[in-house]
Amino acid sequence: MNAIVKPRAIVIGGSLGGLFSATTMRAAGWDVDLFEASPNQLDSRGGGIVLQPDVLDALRFAGVALPDPPGVASGERIYLDRHDRHIEHMFMPQMQTAWGLLYNAMKRALPAHTVHAGETLTGFRTDGDHVLADFESGRVERADLLIGADGIRSTVRHQVLPDVRPAYAGYVAWRGLVPEPDLPSFAADTLRDRFTFQQGDSHSSLAYLIPGEHDETAVGERRWNWVWYRKYDQAALDRLLIDKHGMQRAFSLPPGTTKPADIAMLRDEAHALLAPTFRALVDATGEPFMQPIVDLRAPRMVFGRVLLLGDAASVPRPHTAGSTAKAAANAHALALALSSYAASFSDSAPHGLALDAALARWENQQLQLGKRMTDLGVSLGDRLMKFGR
Ligand SMILES: Cc1cc2nc3c(=O)[nH]c(=O)nc-3n(C[C@H](O)[C@H](O)[C@H](O)COP(=O)(O)OP(=O)(O)OC[C@H]3O[C@@H](n4cnc5c(N)ncnc54)[C@H](O)[C@@H]3O)c2cc1C
Repeated sequence: MNAIVKPRAIVIGGSLGGLFSATTMRAAGWDVDLFEASPNQLDSRGGGIVLQPDVLDALRFAGVALPDPPGVASGERIYLDRHDRHIEHMFMPQMQTAWGLLYNAMKRALPAHTVHAGETLTGFRTDGDHVLADFESGRVERADLLIGADGIRSTVRHQVLPDVRPAYAGYVAWRGLVPEPDLPSFAADTLRDRFTFQQGDSHSSLAYLIPGEHDETAVGERRWNWVWYRKYDQAALDRLLIDKHGMQRAFSLPPGTTKPADIAMLRDEAHALLAPTFRALVDATGEPFMQPIVDLRAPRMVFGRVLLLGDAASVPRPHTAGSTAKAAANAHALALALSSYAASFSDSAPHGLALDAALARWENQQLQLGKRMTDLGVSLGDRLMKFGR
């Protein structure tokens, strides 16, 4: 009996975009290997994510099981003024989860031998209908398809679209996570079961509960997740990005790297600008972290047998609560588009044209999705932060 021959995809990037790609493409009948530059697990660095239907659809297709419940539910949105008065209520049931919960669930679903940590892609070459991927370690991998899920500063995108780079939007997201019992009860009583906002003058904050570090959803074991959007010009951002060891960070401040003086400044400003509930969150956070908000949109996603997906292709601002959902939708649609190709694949028959046509259709749809979401993010963000563009 002949062994089943499957087409092979290699995925670059082992964060959520890469994991959605690897799990859905395997479910669509492809052989998949995933390569991640970081030698370590990424799970301890993420914060909160709104659990969108696109994420659940992709995981269902991939056969990835989530813990039950997969997050923490909230029933309404409320807006606070500077004195903690509730100025607006909206009935809006939704579920929030943790970045780490999704990461761990997908990682568990992949066979260990298909995940290669500590492998940094340096570039790729084409070889007829195949692509050859080169890694810093000297490793070379041959595949029918290379999926660039390598994030905002994608090496894959840099090779195909060197002029497309993230542009700083003029503000950052300060973020923090607080163990559930560590918040004073007046603040916990305001936030519990809700998605809470405070809209200030050119600043904006939000908070909600997410599962604990090890997916816990029992009362008392969860975490408060908060975000505070603040404006800084480029020079002030560059100063913030010098970490507590004096090292200039290129992109963001992960937990544990912010200078003590900047944490003190953040707390002072929180006392001057935020409602008591949000102040209590900032005060209770040991290691606030920071991500600059950037805009990025690639004009193409497919380059022969190489494609871009997730943040490597486009980055919606976080007000859309949609970059993880977009990565999930990109990957799920790709797997659906390429499943019949996998079913009819054979090593000897010519098959390139069918793959090209399926990729072109996928690119067309996903570019539109990226445009919709990035446009929405810019308009929401500029309005919240009062940029008069
Ligand atoms: C540690 C971490 C924590 C995050 N936390 C949150 C969060 O709390 N909330 C939220 O909404 N979003 C978070 N995000 C972003 C969120 O994951 C993304 O917006 C979304 O899921 C799509 O991202 P992505 O997988 O396309 O890109 P990214 O998440 O940026 O991942 C890209 C991956 O590619 C790897 N990589 C880059 N270059 C190479 C290379 N040359 N070779 C091999 N690997 C490479 C990177 O190490 C990284 O793991 C986080 C991302 C990371 C990496």
